[in-house]
Amino acid sequence: MRPASTETVVTNDHHNLQTKQSTSLPSSSSSDRVIIAGAGPTGLFLAYKLAKSGIKVDLVERLPDISDAPRAAGYYGATLLALKDAGLLHLAAQRGYLTRAVGWRTAVQDDGHGNKTWGRLLCNIPFDQGSQERPEMGMLLLPQPKLCELLKEQIHVLNGMQPGSVKFHFHSELSNVHDDGHGVAVSVRNPQTGIERELRGILFVGADGAKSKARQLLGIKLQGHTWPERMIAADVLLRNVDVPPLTQLHFIVHPVHFAMVIPLERPVEGETTLWRFSMATDPMDNSTEEELLREENLARLFENYMVGPRPPQYKVVSKTVYRLHQRLANTMAIGRCALVGDAAHLNNPVGALGLSTGILDCDALATAIEMILHEGGPLSLLSTYSDARRQVFQSFVSPTSTANKLRLQQEPVAADDDWLIRKMQNPTLETLHDFIKPYITVWRTDMRALVAEQAARDEPILKANLSEAF
Ligand SMILES: Cc1cc2nc3c(=O)[nH]c(=O)nc-3n(C[C@H](O)[C@H](O)[C@H](O)COP(=O)(O)OP(=O)(O)OC[C@H]3O[C@@H](n4cnc5c(N)ncnc54)[C@H](O)[C@@H]3O)c2cc1C
Repeated sequence: MRPASTETVVTNDHHNLQTKQSTSLPSSSSSDRVIIAGAGPTGLFLAYKLAKSGIKVDLVERLPDISDAPRAAGYYGATLLALKDAGLLHLAAQRGYLTRAVGWRTAVQDDGHGNKTWGRLLCNIPFDQGSQERPEMGMLLLPQPKLCELLKEQIHVLNGMQPGSVKFHFHSELSNVHDDGHGVAVSVRNPQTGIERELRGILFVGADGAKSKARQLLGIKLQGHTWPERMIAADVLLRNVDVPPLTQLHFIVHPVHFAMVIPLERPVEGETTLWRFSMATDPMDNSTEEELLREENLARLFENYMVGPRPPQYKVVSKTVYRLHQRLANTMAIGRCALVGDAAHLNNPVGALGLSTGILDCDALATAIEMILHEGGPLSLLSTYSDARRQVFQSFVSPTSTANKLRLQQEPVAADDDWLIRKMQNPTLETLHDFIKPYITVWRTDMRALVAEQAARDEPILKANLSEAF
């Protein structure tokens, strides 16, 4: 028997974070709780959705608090609808901003007076200003840490109304999951003290990111490939000059150093604001990460993307190197356990399909869990969820993000002949609606409609599943 020990458990009941001492080991949650590993954006969004529908959650996170690592920033199409349905869109829009257009263009060029101006515009996709009635027509820019902060705050609000809805367990690294057929036993370890304890729940969700321990413990493989080039992401404070009236997000077409240049705050001419430069490295470049992130290397790359007088004045506030993948878990659910977000799939960042797909996983999984726990639905709804979301990744997210990357990674003259670029050179309203349609109809999974459709088709699998009442 393991000795009892003192463990610090951080909960956020009653609105504020509290630290309490627990001497029991194993400490256990009541068995009607859903345990989520990972308090990144997907873990937080799922916890919020479940708590909102009255399902209690234990959220375990290995870090001392939610991460402030700068990563994804753009949300559009069905993701905005999912945020709207969760009652979060107006709050998210207050903290971010709705962009006017994304443009594909060549690298910056000399203006003949020693300054650089934006490169040739190949095409624009104008977004509506994303009215509340048609949010799917807009694009929201909100850095990932700000979204996480908002979700955490809103969970605290729910905890204020229904104490204990979501218990945060920081400093708690997932170390084991055991599904005994009646519930799940989840072991977590404090990375600082090494102390382990156990939580019991009814279902388990791995939302613990690309290197998911949950995925490993469940024996799930992540199949696919890794692209040869790496990406440098640098967040830079920059004085805004030459801000185009329409195009705010710039996709720089280049056969090697393709890039995305994105203002993380609304860019106002003359003001200094934060920008994200996501810049591809040469696949033949074997430099270490440290070498890639050296000041002189960044300055050399920025020459391709920064407009205005030379030398450009800027301050790098964060920088990182990451690899690009197209990978999918061979299942997103086993028994009482499911995966969401990066734990389940990875795609290259061109077109902002990564985090958004994770948010849409949570949107579907929250409904499946609600149907199981509140409406007597079968446990096999988790498999229905897995099949549906894997299909969305295979048929839409992965091919679309692959095409997005390859469209950016070519000579501009070749890009001129690309069907999307030609279509968007003079887009009509109908062209824009056709473009956004799959991002609304295909990307999101309506679990209730899917189950009703399967039942209507009288599928033998569903009939068998329904007979194993949960
Ligand atoms: C540099 C960079 C730039 C990116 N840019 C874009 C972009 O422009 N557009 C886009 O769409 N996507 C982008 N992405 C991807 C995007 O950030 C991810 O899709 C998103 O973070 C996925 O969210 P998640 O909640 O699934 O996982 P994560 O954000 O990785 O969160 C996982 C959480 O689980 C915790 N955790 C991990 N292991 C354990 C464990 N064993 N026990 C407990 N907790 C654990 C982690 O600490 C973390 O808090 C980028 C990623 C990187 C790295």
